[in-house]
Amino acid sequence: MTENKHQSIHCSVKSCRHLKPEMGLCGLESVQIAPTPMAYSGDPADESMCQSYHCK
Ligand code: SF4
Repeated sequence: MTENKHQSIHCSVKSCRHLKPEMGLCGLESVQIAPTPMAYSGDPADESMCQSYHCK
């Protein structure tokens, strides 16, 4: 695993409590990304999702 202490997580999911909308950044130090049940379609929107998401 490569660790990058200068990494930023850019995000625009406005319904997530971790989003800092004024900055367009996630407030977490790291997030967990996982395949969706729709995986293998080849469409990026179907292949991955943020499992660190929490509704406001
Ligand atoms: S937890 Fe995931 S969905 Fe929520 S702001 Fe961070 S990157 Fe975006």
